[in-house]
Amino acid sequence: MVILVTGGAGFIGSHLCKKLLEQGNDVLCVDNFYTGNKNNILPLMKNKKFELIRHDITFPLYLEIDQIYNLACPASPIHYQRDPVQTLKTSIHGAINILGLAKRTKARIFQASTSEVYGDPEIHPQKESYWGKVNPIGPRACYDEGKRCAETLFFDYYRQYNLDVRIGRIFNTYGPNMHPDDGRVVSNFIVQALTDKYITIYGKGDQTRSFQYIDDLIEAIIKIMNSEKRLIGPMNLGNDQELTINDLATTILKLVKHSKSKIIYEPLPQDDPKQRKPDISLAKKELKWQPRTNLEEGLTKTIQYFKKIVSK
Ligand code: NAD
Ligand code: UDP
Repeated sequence: MVILVTGGAGFIGSHLCKKLLEQGNDVLCVDNFYTGNKNNILPLMKNKKFELIRHDITFPLYLEIDQIYNLACPASPIHYQRDPVQTLKTSIHGAINILGLAKRTKARIFQASTSEVYGDPEIHPQKESYWGKVNPIGPRACYDEGKRCAETLFFDYYRQYNLDVRIGRIFNTYGPNMHPDDGRVVSNFIVQALTDKYITIYGKGDQTRSFQYIDDLIEAIIKIMNSEKRLIGPMNLGNDQELTINDLATTILKLVKHSKSKIIYEPLPQDDPKQRKPDISLAKKELKWQPRTNLEEGLTKTIQYFKKIVSK
């Protein structure tokens, strides 16, 4: 197949491009390098079946493809809040452009949605049927509401044009190819621990998250996309092992042996969700999938990656 991956030079996109190439597909990677990194796709450039197109999806594009994975969008709070209007344009204008492309080419299309559609949730763990609690005018809204609107667009293109859409709600994912300045908690703590800098815990560190290793996510995304049963979703894709940010810091300090880093507490960003854990019973049932990488194993692989690219 000829497969388009938008946001293909980013963290998740680069792993997805690699896997799709390994499966023998032609891969078109579209990215405007807002947060993407050429180093992530450099190893793929040798493959004749890989093509890189520098393009901003807020503008239309014309390609002939069989499948689309729409991943383009900055995912880290510091990056999506840097230019909130562009973040909204990417989620909304970008979705309209890419859905239009899917409509013309009759391509099946996957949307990388997010656990952020649940906002600061009152239901725990979060099930797909929960509508969420999002502040529509806060600093996270450009991302959360953009992604919620993108889900609406995907559903309306399905209902109105019978488009073959698949929506995955991705929970916190980590692994190699995250940018050292990405700003998300796992990469921050690992880089800080490796360089003996302060480990910056926001708030008291008692907020929770559930972290999924990248390989598990890639397996799930490809499964939902290629399921013969029409799995529109939305479907939670995550690891349901929940821990506090304090526990994450302690685990990373233990795994990065001999770090001289100390923990420092900084103010909690506005609207930071207090708890997050996916209910993944739908994915387990429909995809016959479950995350296989435990936290220490995934963190160890991620630490090995960062050791190669950061120096004290
Ligand atoms: P990332 O920032 O590493 O990658 C995003 C990629 O999209 C980058 O390469 C960036 O340059 C590109 N991009 C941004 N705006 C673009 C535009 N207008 N046109 C073309 N390219 C554009 O983030 P990631 O972690 O790889 O996330 C990928 C997708 O998965 C995002 O849609 C994100 O919302 C979603 N997601 C990620 C997580 C996670 O924990 N990593 C969780 C939930 C959802
Ligand atoms: N966080 C932290 N220190 C950091 C970066 C993040 O304590 O250096 C916290 C953040 O406030 C949040 C959690 O870690 O409670 C996860 O943050 P991240 O930005 O990785 O993702 P989020 O789930 O908030 O989108």
